Amino acid sequence: MSSKILYGKPVADNIKRKLKLQIQELAEQNIIPSLSVILIGEDAASLVYVNTKHKTFLKFNCKSKIYSFNQEIKEEKIVNLIYNLNNDISVHGILVQLPLPKHINYNNIINAISPEKDVDGLHPYNLGCLLSGKPNFIPCTPNGCLNLLKYYEIPVENKHIVIIGRSNIVGKPLMALLSQKFEIGNATVTICHTGTKNIKKHTMLADIIIAAVGQPELINSSMIKGGVHIIDVGVNRVKDNSSKAGYKLVGDIDFENVIDKVKSITPVPGGVGPLTISMLLYNTVFSAKNYLK
Ligand code: NAP
Repeated sequence: MSSKILYGKPVADNIKRKLKLQIQELAEQNIIPSLSVILIGEDAASLVYVNTKHKTFLKFNCKSKIYSFNQEIKEEKIVNLIYNLNNDISVHGILVQLPLPKHINYNNIINAISPEKDVDGLHPYNLGCLLSGKPNFIPCTPNGCLNLLKYYEIPVENKHIVIIGRSNIVGKPLMALLSQKFEIGNATVTICHTGTKNIKKHTMLADIIIAAVGQPELINSSMIKGGVHIIDVGVNRVKDNSSKAGYKLVGDIDFENVIDKVKSITPVPGGVGPLTISMLLYNTVFSAKNYLK
């Protein structure tokens, strides 16, 4: 389906329709996909993300439990909780909401999660599977981007894709996925970050730009060529006195500035966001189905 504005909702609805049937089939075998989310601290955006995940899981007749801790919680307590959840056969997915407080070591937490329940796809085992071309759990946002490209029939093979951002959760998995000989892949991928001297030099050559940076409206029309496809993963809060909340959400792309020049673009909000949660549901159902094997 071709479209200039790449809304995430129809893509997410399509995925959820298929998942609903799979969840029903699992229920007939007395298996209810179950997610455990660990939330540390009171970061406002994290609270919103965790609650949205929780509500989505309940809406789809899946189980969801949130373990909330204050900012000062000791790392050891979180690791012990993860070990308990690893051993609990009624739990299919474990997710630790990021970012973590500074005193908690990211690697110690992610490495504690059983790779079989790592529905965020961040455990080194799962990242290794991805790199070796045999993905197990694919991180949710990158998988959402692939589904979006597929749904809107955006050609990927042989194209030049420029990804801005190299996080473990978005940029690096996308690089691994899109550069491999997958159904949505086989592209030439350039990855930019703070060590890139001249981002514009790369974005000007891109057929597809994927921005996952976290810098409001970093990319404007002077940095892109005409007819490019853009996926804007970034979600940034900027001050907006006209809104009730006092802020609005914008992406890493200056949407209004580039809209006349692009072939297609995802909006923020309403683009990649709805897909991330659908893919979390997908990964949790995938994990639950593994229990039948
Ligand atoms: P992150 O871990 O902070 O990584 C940001 C990446 O961008 C880093 O690789 C960083 O480079 C790079 N970067 C930062 N400033 C830059 C600049 N001026 N020029 C070039 N590169 C720059 O962030 P993340 O978790 O990947 O998230 C990125 C954005 O996506 C955030 O806005 C986040 O809220 C959003 N997000 C949205 C969803 C969704 O569902 N829609 C899901 C996940 C994330 P270095 O590595 O050199 O520091």
